[in-house]
Amino acid sequence: MVGTVDIGVLQALQEVQKFDEEIDLLSAQSAKLPHEAQATAIAQKIAEGERAIAKLQATMKVIDERVTTLDDKAIAARAKAVDEMTKIDKGEIDYRQMEAVTQDISAHAQRVEVAETQGLELLTAREEAERRIESIKQGIAELEQAKARILADYRQELATLATRAAQIAAQRDAKRTEVDDELLARYDELRSERGGVVVATFDGERCDGCSIALPTAIAEEFDAPGSVGICSECRRLLMYLGEDPA
Ligand SMILES: [Zn+2]
Repeated sequence: MVGTVDIGVLQALQEVQKFDEEIDLLSAQSAKLPHEAQATAIAQKIAEGERAIAKLQATMKVIDERVTTLDDKAIAARAKAVDEMTKIDKGEIDYRQMEAVTQDISAHAQRVEVAETQGLELLTAREEAERRIESIKQGIAELEQAKARILADYRQELATLATRAAQIAAQRDAKRTEVDDELLARYDELRSERGGVVVATFDGERCDGCSIALPTAIAEEFDAPGSVGICSECRRLLMYLGEDPA
């Protein structure tokens, strides 16, 4: 497809390509914005915090169950001691049994004390777990705020980039009206096939897209300024603007 068009048309197509490159750059910038990754990292920390809270709550539940058991034990031991003391008071225990019963009472009292001490330790551990839950919850609230700020920044940056891209696209579309349809169709086809820069210039010897000297037979086809064809090496739209395009 070697033909000849007005040099002004080729220059317009070069500008179309430059606008498209700028738009490509902006879309690459949008894709490289760090906000999403940052928000994901924060969301992971929040999830870690929530798992830690669930674990602490499970621990608290176990503590509550143990405390209840210990309370029951203390109550039972105290009741047994009271029972024995009542028997002594009523004179139901004779002096030969007295020593054994007294020992029983003291054993019951010791069980009450052990249960109560263990219960207190557990309650201290429970309070500590509660404090940690509160502190983790506070950390999560701060992380949620940070995440919201990052996402708001992200939306703003994306909007800024999109606005710039739209402005450039408007300039590009205006410039496209200066290029004839057949050339535009070829350009669009190449852009959708390979993307990036699809227009190159021929300096009489080399294509500046791939820097390769064209075979003489092909180079000879670009015989006049305004000649346009396809580079035999890189398949870009190749245009010859003359020795010294002004
Ligand atoms: Zn080339």
